[in-house]
Amino acid sequence: MGRPRTRRLVKAVTDTGRPLRVLIAVRLSRLTDDTTSPERQLKECRQYVAAKGWIEVGVAEDLDVSARTTAPFDRAELGSWLKHRADEFDVIVFWRLDRIVRSVSDLNDLLNWAKKDGKHLASATEEHFDTSTAIGYIIAILIAWVAEMESQATSERTTSMHADFIDDGRYRGGTPSFGYRPVLITDTCWVCADAGVACRHVGQKRLEHDPVMAPLAQEVVRRIVEDSVRPMAIVKDLTARKIMTPDDHHRITLKDKQGKPRKPKGIAWQVGNLVLMLKSPALMGYQMRRDVLGVDQDGKKVYDKPEIVRDAQDRPVLRAQPIIDPVTFQRLQTKLEEMNKKRGPSKKSNALLLGVLKCGVCGLNMYINMGRTYPYYRCKSYSSGASCGNPNIRRELAEAFLLDLLLGEFGDIERCERVYEPGEDHSDELEQVQVTLDDLTGLLTKPAYKQGTTQRERLEHQIERLAEREAVLEAKPVRPSTYRLVGTGQTFRDYWDSLNTEEQNIYLLDHGVLVTVKGGSQAPEWSYELSDLHDILGSIDPGIDVGEYMRAQDEHARQNRESVG
Ligand SMILES: [Zn+2]
Ligand SMILES: [Zn+2]
Repeated sequence: MGRPRTRRLVKAVTDTGRPLRVLIAVRLSRLTDDTTSPERQLKECRQYVAAKGWIEVGVAEDLDVSARTTAPFDRAELGSWLKHRADEFDVIVFWRLDRIVRSVSDLNDLLNWAKKDGKHLASATEEHFDTSTAIGYIIAILIAWVAEMESQATSERTTSMHADFIDDGRYRGGTPSFGYRPVLITDTCWVCADAGVACRHVGQKRLEHDPVMAPLAQEVVRRIVEDSVRPMAIVKDLTARKIMTPDDHHRITLKDKQGKPRKPKGIAWQVGNLVLMLKSPALMGYQMRRDVLGVDQDGKKVYDKPEIVRDAQDRPVLRAQPIIDPVTFQRLQTKLEEMNKKRGPSKKSNALLLGVLKCGVCGLNMYINMGRTYPYYRCKSYSSGASCGNPNIRRELAEAFLLDLLLGEFGDIERCERVYEPGEDHSDELEQVQVTLDDLTGLLTKPAYKQGTTQRERLEHQIERLAEREAVLEAKPVRPSTYRLVGTGQTFRDYWDSLNTEEQNIYLLDHGVLVTVKGGSQAPEWSYELSDLHDILGSIDPGIDVGEYMRAQDEHARQNRESVG
C-alpha cells in the first residue's frame, strides 16, 4: 500500500479529504474476569474517535459466549460488518486488542483482510498499536500473543476450578445419581461416620440415600440380577406403577420463583436412561468426576465421560453410602451385557410368541414345544411340576390369532416411528447457578473477603455476573418434551413381512404386545394388549406432550381390558 510510514496512528482524512469513517467494535466477555462494561468501552472509543477528528458510522457489539476464541469473522455483528458492509467504514476502533481478537492467527487473518481492503485497525487504549508502520505491526502481533496466553490461562483456571468442585464429592446441583438425594450435612456424613472419623463435610450439601429412590434402585437391580427381568419390562412396570423418574422425583423438591414446589415434567421412564443409570459406578457410592472439555457454541459446558475418582493407593473414593455392593454391581453389569447381546429369544427356542403369549390361568409365559404331531405352546408351570391345568394351544392357532389381530387392525396403515423431541428446561443450570451463588454469598462474611480488598471486589463481580445469569435463566421458557410421530412411507404389513421371526418377536416384545389364552385349542379364550401399537400406528395425533401420551396409553389399556373382559 502506498501509505506513508509515520509514527502517527492513522491519518484523520482519506487521500480525497473525506474524514475517516469508523466502525467501533465492542465485546462483552462473560467468561473471563473482565470488568469493563460495553458502555465504558464504547465511551472511551468515542472519546478517542472524537480526538482523532474521525466520524463514527456504526457500532458492532457482540457478547462473547465462548471461553475459546471466536474469530472476528464469526462474530454475529462484527462478522456481518466485515463481510457485507466493508465499504461503509475505513477504520475499526476497539477498546483493547483482546476486544477484537483472541488469538494470533485471528489477528493475522484480520490484518491480511485490512491490508487487502485498505482498512486500518486502531486501539483506543494501546497507544503503539499502529498497523500502518512495521514496528507497530510487530507490536500488534505481540499484544495479541500476550492476550492469547492470558485467554488460555483463564480457560484453564475455569476448568480446574470446576474439577475441584466435583472432586471433593459434594453435591453441585442437578439430578442426583440414581438412589440418592442431596442433604445439608449438619452432624456427620455417612462416609465419615462409617470410617469412624470426625466429619470434614459439615455445612456442605452431599448425597445420602433417598427414602424412595434408594429402595427402588435396589429393587430394580434385584429383579434384573436375580429374576432376569429385562430393562424394557421394568420400564413398563415402573410406568404402570406411576413411579416418577429420578429427574421428576428430584424436580418436585425444588422451588420455583414464587417459592412453590416445582411440578413434575411427566417424563416417561426410558430403557436407555435406566440402563445408563444402572451402569454407573455411582451406585456403589463412588465419587465420580466429569472433566470439562470446553464450552460449546451456546456457552454450555461440554463434559468428558464420567470417571471414578481414586485415592493415592488407586482405591475408589466413597462419597456416600453405597446403594449396592461391588459384587452385585459386577453381576448387574454381566447380566445387562447378556441381555443386550440376545435381545429376544435364543436361536433354539425361536418362536414368534415367546414372551408375548401368557397363560390365561396362572399368568406365566407359554413356551414352544415341537410336539409329536404338531408344535404347541405350553404354560411354564408344566415344567415346574405344579401345573396350573391350562391346556396347550396349537402354535398355528395362537400365531394366526395374533397375525389376524395385528395385520387386520394395522396392516394397511402407514407405519410411523415415534421420535422423541427433548424440551427446553434450564432448571438444572439454574439450580447450579443458585447453589454456586449461595456458596459465594456465604464467603462475603469471611475475613479474607473483607470490604476494600481485591478479593472482595472480585467476589462481588462474580456474584453480580451469576445473578445476571440467574435472571436470564429464570426468564427462559420451559417447554415440555414431546413425542412426534413420523411416517415411514411403508405399510405396516410390508414392514412386518420384511422381518424374520426373531425380529418380529422382538418387535412385539419391544412394543408391549401381550396375548393371553386359556381353554386350549378346542375352545380358546383370548385376551390381548396392543396399546403401544395403537399409539405408534396412528391412533393419536403427533406432537402431544408426554403427560398426555401417558394418559392416552392408560386409556387404551383400560379400553382393551373392557373390550376383552
Ligand atoms: Zn464427612
Ligand atoms: Zn399356567
